[in-house]
Amino acid sequence: MPGADTLTTEIRAERGARARVVAADLAARGVVGVAIHWVDNAGICRVKTVPVRQLPHAAAWGVGASPAFDVFLADDSMTETPWSGGPVGDLRLVPDLDRVLVSAAQPGWAWAPGDRLRQDGTPHPLCARRFARRMQAAAGERGLSLRTGFEIEWVAAHAGADDEPPVVAAEGPAYGARRLVECSDYLRDLLVAFAEQDMTVLQLHPEYTPGQFEVSFAPEDAVGAADTAMVVRHTIRAVSARHGFRVSFAPVVLPGSVGNGGHLHLSLWQEGVNAMQGGDRVHALTFVGEAFLAGVLDALPALTAVGASSAASFLRLVPSHWAGAFRCWGLENREAAVRLITGSVGERAASANAEVKCFDGAANPYLAVGAVVAAGLDGIERRLLLPRETLGNPDGTDAERLPASLVEAADAFDRSQALAAAMGPELQGAVAAVRRAEAVRFAGSTPEEVVAATRWRY
Ligand code: GLU
Ligand code: MG
Repeated sequence: MPGADTLTTEIRAERGARARVVAADLAARGVVGVAIHWVDNAGICRVKTVPVRQLPHAAAWGVGASPAFDVFLADDSMTETPWSGGPVGDLRLVPDLDRVLVSAAQPGWAWAPGDRLRQDGTPHPLCARRFARRMQAAAGERGLSLRTGFEIEWVAAHAGADDEPPVVAAEGPAYGARRLVECSDYLRDLLVAFAEQDMTVLQLHPEYTPGQFEVSFAPEDAVGAADTAMVVRHTIRAVSARHGFRVSFAPVVLPGSVGNGGHLHLSLWQEGVNAMQGGDRVHALTFVGEAFLAGVLDALPALTAVGASSAASFLRLVPSHWAGAFRCWGLENREAAVRLITGSVGERAASANAEVKCFDGAANPYLAVGAVVAAGLDGIERRLLLPRETLGNPDGTDAERLPASLVEAADAFDRSQALAAAMGPELQGAVAAVRRAEAVRFAGSTPEEVVAATRWRY
């Protein structure tokens, strides 16, 4: 039963029964509390918890949560839309029993992603996880499945107050072995925690910016990749705390330096065959693979509002930072917003994929995957073709820059018919309202002020 769409009496009974079995197993493994998490439209992961004995009731009926979270900003202030905001109302946050995960780094706790439903058991139109699931199902209806994964970048710093400048956990050269040695126990404990949580790490390495690291995981379906992105962050945070570190997934942590990306990798499969390879289009893309990527490229300015969702995102999304600041694509081009990756000769049928690079750590991963899939399917629908490939650095060429501010991104988002149709007016309206409210919040702020206000929020 993947997620909760509508809770009928029978489904509630089934879920309750199943949750009793899950709860007994969790209790036997020492779990005391289950944390049910969801991500708001500002990209903040919020949580409600229940003692493990309450899991059956939560699985059948959900736990209460205000619909006002749909219009929360990253600083916990609120905006409103005709559909959302204000103190009145209640939603039911329902844990997905298929994705309950016992935390290795927080003894006594398990995590479960939540779907948000109305009190009558019908879906809440602004549930981001359901949006991702709907888009995944729309791909499925066309005989397509997705293999998806987020790269998670973060900066680790010594514990301190929010208003103190960060003292990073390790200096040393970008991608430098020195950083690995200096943080040896920390990084080992991370690998141990992921292994105990049965998560398949592909790679863990020091990144460019001081104190920065990156981890990536085996691809999953679109909703699973978003679930994983959140649990990975909780795990990194918990292991970091045990080492006296705090972590930031914010788009920019140190003003002027390279930021934290949240690159989205994606391949499209038809009857078990990778549509990103083996075709007769450019770089052996299939027609479907090309049309999907062309749809993503077509919607990219609008997608920026989804995947680069903070005022700080536009301090990261600048040329020559490998952030993908240009609306173009290229084979293994780290300055193009869409980087095509074919992989090594010999394993391309399995490994070929595309990476959306302009997304960062502030993004709600459910909205990000849902919106990219919506754009790609629109490309297939309209049989779009890719424009000419960008071969070198797009900076200084006639390549189009992606939006340079939240306002520009929100304008493009409001113009996108593909995203409006996929999201529906309530979700589209809330995302746009949150972007515009955050733009107002930071109007006139210096880059240093934006970074200081957002650094520890994500
Ligand atoms: N940290 C860079 C970013 O902001 C990405 C570096 C890389 O290519 O992995 O997206
Ligand atoms: Mg990276």
